[in-house]
Amino acid sequence: MFSEEVLLEALNSTPMADGVPRDLWRDDPALSRWAVQRGGDGGPGEREWLRKTRDALQRVVRGESGPEILTAFLAGARKVPRLSGDGLDWILEVEADRRPAVELILAWDRVRNELPGRLRPCANSDCRLFLVDHSRANTARWCSMRTCGNRLKARRHHERQRHQAAGRTEPGRPH
Ligand SMILES: [Zn+2]
Repeated sequence: MFSEEVLLEALNSTPMADGVPRDLWRDDPALSRWAVQRGGDGGPGEREWLRKTRDALQRVVRGESGPEILTAFLAGARKVPRLSGDGLDWILEVEADRRPAVELILAWDRVRNELPGRLRPCANSDCRLFLVDHSRANTARWCSMRTCGNRLKARRHHERQRHQAAGRTEPGRPH
């Protein structure tokens, strides 16, 4: 079972770096390491499923597509109950290559159910990261206050100053 942190790692594997979009998962060894650390084998089939599933989940979370684009990744996967101690464990049955990709989709669905509306893209349009808002008021908008939040505040401040300066040279200009 993948945690919310693992889901965010996957969704946030395409950050902006110096204004250029990067894909941290384009690098085969890096993605294999990531998959092996999470119980996979890091093989090429697994990488292929992971990349495609991540791209689809990003589109769904950004609202660019409905969840039906996830159908192909889930085909034939099932959860089977097994007695374990006093209760049941639900075992995911799917071919090995596809397991981490399906676990990502299951993690996305769990976050969607447990924290409805809280998984969202960062409000900074220059940023490609995602966040899960745990604030009580559901008002978090930035992936990070330190980076995106402050950057936007600084930009607004700058624009306000420019606007005020323009206002001084053009008296009577409506605000
Ligand atoms: Zn951001």
